[in-house]
Amino acid sequence: MTTECIFCKIIDGEIPSELIYKDDNVIAFKDLNPQAPTHILFVPTIHVENAAELAKISPVVLGALFKAVGKVAQDRVITDYRTVFNTGAGAGQSVFHAHLDLLSGREFDWPPG
Ligand code: AMP
Ligand code: ZN
Repeated sequence: MTTECIFCKIIDGEIPSELIYKDDNVIAFKDLNPQAPTHILFVPTIHVENAAELAKISPVVLGALFKAVGKVAQDRVITDYRTVFNTGAGAGQSVFHAHLDLLSGREFDWPPG
């Protein structure tokens, strides 16, 4: 837990969220400011700054994020979706607790903007 981290506060239940999925390693909840009709954040329950750091500290938990994506997508019949890790403010990261965005329900450009 990092005291000022908003995602750590959600994990600890200090800040409410619209919970989608939870296990020992992963919590998933709806994004407060959705960028698509479906926008879910998959967040490791350990505080690490970004995906590369998570891979160093725990490849198991990194894999658990994608397992959770697969389970939620299957349960909610989300067949077409985009998953994104933003890393660094210049790439759009605003919360420095690693998280995987799942976006679905609209067309996506390629290359991404
Ligand atoms: P990023 O900009 O990639 O770091 O993504 C952070 C995301 O967290 C943004 O899409 C925000 O809308 C979202 N967010 C910030 N605070 C909350 C919150 N309290 N509950 C849900 N989503 C949040
Ligand atoms: Zn955190």
